[in-house]
Amino acid sequence: MKKLLAAVLTGVMCASLLTACGGSAPAASASTEAASVAAAGSESAPAEAAADSVLNKDTLIVGTNAAFPPFEYAGADGTPDGFDIALIKAVGEKIGKNIEVKDMEFDSLVASIGNKIDVAIAGMTVTDERKNMVDFSDPYYEAVQNVIVVKGSEISTADDLKGKNIGVQLGTTGDFIASDVEGAQVSQYNKGVDAVNDLLNGRVDCVILDTNPAKEFVSQHADELTALEGDGFGFETENYAIAMPKGDAALVEAVNGALKELKEDGTFDALVAEYINNGEVPEAEEASEEASTEAASEESSEAASTEAASTEAE
Ligand code: GLN
Repeated sequence: MKKLLAAVLTGVMCASLLTACGGSAPAASASTEAASVAAAGSESAPAEAAADSVLNKDTLIVGTNAAFPPFEYAGADGTPDGFDIALIKAVGEKIGKNIEVKDMEFDSLVASIGNKIDVAIAGMTVTDERKNMVDFSDPYYEAVQNVIVVKGSEISTADDLKGKNIGVQLGTTGDFIASDVEGAQVSQYNKGVDAVNDLLNGRVDCVILDTNPAKEFVSQHADELTALEGDGFGFETENYAIAMPKGDAALVEAVNGALKELKEDGTFDALVAEYINNGEVPEAEEASEEASTEAASEESSEAASTEAASTEAE
């Protein structure tokens, strides 16, 4: 049933957005213009990018939900910052694209790809349902859902979740897991932090949220809350990836190529250290030390990625 709905939705998206589905869309002026940009485009971009590939644009509109620290949050100036934002800017630099970040609700990201936004990066887990709507890059991070409880709570196993009031962020994998719990009442919030606040207020019994944001929110209330690792509850490991329009093979190839290069040249580890591990470089991967040091000092700053299109010269 869900699959059927997804298929129908995909059809609707194709109909309203021919370009996203590789159909013979009316040759919009945008794609004519795009063709000339592509000619001057980056070397990472495969030459055979279809006329309607996102790669033909010189600015990628990137959707995120800046309420999921440390992957995305509102930075000091109010604009989205975090690991994912730094990563997509570094990807943009590699493939010669400017990056424009758009903050939106997590639940509307997938449906906005191909119309309001070109791609999404939001600590988004690869799922079969989402794969009916979008294509994913290679995974870049592993996570598992955590169960946040008030200290001293009786909840410690999957069985204990039955019949409970569970707070989740709307449309997330935590939401899907909670919805499968027998007899549970699921309270959906647009932001994970709002669910956590209702846990503090006693309005929900626990909150199911991805590892890193769960730890971050709990650390702000370390006296009252604790985050239980989801593997103890039988939750599966999840993989985060960048979501892209379905069928844009050239874009997927370029983004995967960029991710691979960023891992090889140490930039990726430097970003993990800076944003996720608070300065600690992952131990097993210190080989590319020089590259990481360089990447860390460059910090793939906003200015750098804004200029990415013009300075791309690899
Ligand atoms: N990883 C979860 C999901 O993809 C939550 C992501 C988020 O809230 N930003 O559903």
